[in-house]
This record gives sequence, structure tokens and C-alpha cells, in this order.
Amino acid sequence: MTPTEILTLYHLRKTPTRLSILEYLQISHLPQSENEIHKKMQDSYDRITFYRTIQTLMEAGIIHRIVADNTTVRYALNHYNSQLDEQNHDHVHFYCTKCGKVECMEEVVVQPYHLPDGYKIEECNVVVKGLCRQCIIKDHDR
Ligand SMILES: [Zn+2]
Ligand SMILES: [Zn+2]
Repeated sequence: MTPTEILTLYHLRKTPTRLSILEYLQISHLPQSENEIHKKMQDSYDRITFYRTIQTLMEAGIIHRIVADNTTVRYALNHYNSQLDEQNHDHVHFYCTKCGKVECMEEVVVQPYHLPDGYKIEECNVVVKGLCRQCIIKDHDR
């Protein structure tokens, strides 16, 4: 799906900021921080518009955010797969403690937690920390 098609699907107006954020998240293999998106957007970047856009895209369920190392917020597109049911399953995020890379592990689904009566889950963030494949290979090469 192109950014235009995504916005059409969610009945959102196709503003330049929405389109460029979606486009950039689509071509990036990994979740991106505000700084990285900022660099990419260059002159068209405006902090207030950026946060408003991110908020709209998150509320619509088009993107999600990841806080893996307590300092940097990263954003990633939700996974579209018409074969799956409508609901987006929360997935595990992986944070490499060596190179600082954050990855969406769409194939690792977060198991639903059963909270005591009277509580309601809104969001469930699971971040697994460790070493990524590349860092393990580098370690072996030494
Ligand atoms: Zn790594
Ligand atoms: Zn993710």
C-alpha cells in the first residue's frame, strides 16, 4: 500500500507531513526516531506539525511508537496483512544493547496478560534486550 492509499483507507486527509512521514517509515527497514525523520524531511520539518501528525497517525492505528532505551522514542508502521484479522496484534520489540538498534519482531506476538478485575489494558509494550544477529557474528569473528 502506498502512503496515499493508507490515508484514504483510514479516511484521513493527505497532508504533505503525513505523506512524507509514512513514506519515510515505509522505506526504512527499522523503526525511526524523530531526529532521523527530521533529517529526512529537512526544511519541511516543523516540530508542532510533526507531533500533531504522529498523534493522528497513532490514534488511527497506522503507526506505533517504541521506547526501548528510556531516552529515544522511535516510530514504526503497523503491519498490514489482509490475511490476518483486522486487529493489530502487539508484537515484541528487540533492543540490541551493543549497537543500539531497535527492531519490530512482528512474528513474536505479545501474549495477552490477564489483569485483575477492574483493570483495562490500553497498550502493552514488551522490549526484549540482548544482542542482535550482526553483533553476535562480529563477536565470533574476533
Ligand atoms: Zn546489534
Ligand atoms: Zn513494532
